[in-house]
Amino acid sequence: GRRGGEQMELSNMHYSKKRKYRYPAKSRRIWIMISVLLVSCCILDLIYYKKVQDGLLEQTYSDLKKESNIARGNLESRLQAKQEWLEMIAAFCDIPDGSGTENWWDKTRQFCSEDYRLEMGDTQGNIYYGDHQSGYVGDKPYYREIIAGKRSISRIQSMGYQDQDSIVVGVPIFRDGKVEGAVCAEYTVSSLGNLINGSEMSQYGANLVFTPEGKLAASYSGMEHFETVYEMLETMEYKKQGEVRQFRKSIEAGESGYLIYYNEGKMRLLYYQPVGIRDWAIATLVVTDSYEKIFNDLRSMSIVILLATTVLITAAAILTAYALKVRRKEIEKVKKDALTGVFTREAALQMIQKEFGKKDGGNYRVCMFLDIDHFKEINDTYGHDAGDRVLIESGAILKRCLRNTDIVSRYGGDEFCIWVYGEADSTVLVNIANRILGEFRKIGSVSVSIGIAAAKQKESDYLEVLKRADQALYKAKRQGRNQYVLDYSKEET
Ligand code: GH3
Ligand code: MG
Repeated sequence: GRRGGEQMELSNMHYSKKRKYRYPAKSRRIWIMISVLLVSCCILDLIYYKKVQDGLLEQTYSDLKKESNIARGNLESRLQAKQEWLEMIAAFCDIPDGSGTENWWDKTRQFCSEDYRLEMGDTQGNIYYGDHQSGYVGDKPYYREIIAGKRSISRIQSMGYQDQDSIVVGVPIFRDGKVEGAVCAEYTVSSLGNLINGSEMSQYGANLVFTPEGKLAASYSGMEHFETVYEMLETMEYKKQGEVRQFRKSIEAGESGYLIYYNEGKMRLLYYQPVGIRDWAIATLVVTDSYEKIFNDLRSMSIVILLATTVLITAAAILTAYALKVRRKEIEKVKKDALTGVFTREAALQMIQKEFGKKDGGNYRVCMFLDIDHFKEINDTYGHDAGDRVLIESGAILKRCLRNTDIVSRYGGDEFCIWVYGEADSTVLVNIANRILGEFRKIGSVSVSIGIAAAKQKESDYLEVLKRADQALYKAKRQGRNQYVLDYSKEET
């Protein structure tokens, strides 16, 4: 009961539709591996980036502390050197007696510069400086200290030298073990700041010396806008509230530590510690952008390197996966029949040979041989192209009726050879055969005959099984076609 070819052409259509490509298990595994690789790459990048950042920060912290110690040592040695210089003058100068003709007058003129003013004092508290100018400091604690025979560094003198806040460094003049006067150098706070903010340092940051109240003893340009250090710090941004208050408490307690703040979004770092003069503290901060630039350059360089490695690794992984996929496709192409897409006879036989070579006889012990009925007539009636389409459709039906693990192959012409995977008893085989016959009956125009044979228990020659299946097929043809014949002689010995 075969009808026309139009119906076949209709049913061909859904085979020309491209089946959605599902990655085979192996390919899926590769993609999972690539994803894992990528994710771990990103995690490693993040860890590395964090490490670089932490490392840079740590370096900055320790650099800053070092700078602070250098500045502190600098201030100490500069002031000490100045005191020694003053003592040298004190050893050789005339004792101030108000005559106006003492031998140090030209010196006071000379050392009345931007940096400091040289001052000579008598025991009464009168000081002489510049060109025969004088003043009175007898009530100042630092002066009393000097007259008592001690070196002294004064508190901050408001409206001192040059009408700025100033610091006076002074030593007594001794004659026969008696204090006979004082030699002093009066610095403005900004000139004292210059002592610890040398050109080398100012490239990277600044040092400030200040009292616990925040008043500046050694200043830095820009600070003149602020009454106190705290006032300046209050204009900055902080991660937490009350950090300036905390900082002040720390200074008042004579502690040392770091303070992080932000200026226009840029991070600044400050290190503070007692300076060793009075109750003053020194704060060293990174202010200029050159330090930040180094920091940023390093950071962006590490980001670029990390991104580049990530991209390269990803590209390499994708290329590898692509190459593997192409290679697999090429291999598959060789193995698959061009017309029907099932395995070629050679590919199938190769696989089966391997299976039968296994110790346990392998997983493919049942052969189904299949041949299209009166195929010549289809060719003759509807043409070779129609015949081809029937072959394509037949391959599709077989693939549909069998599992992925079964081996479907085109044996040649209109013959197909199927090897069924795993334990398959006669009911399973009958089911498969009926399913195939049913599918062909649905089309209506084409039928097939099927011969089925199973390998005996220890049988190691697959060609023998094939031959029995072929014989069963022959029997099916002889019995009237459109049916299967099962030669299930597995139990025979
Ligand atoms: P039977 O029911 O006994 O199998 O009759 P049949 O006409 O199908 O006879 P047979 O199986 O011997 O015929 C096979 C024919 O298949 C012979 C050949 O012309 C045709 N054939 C072989 N390869 C192809 C092919 O690739 N395309 C087409 N269209 N026909 C093919
Ligand atoms: Mg045939």
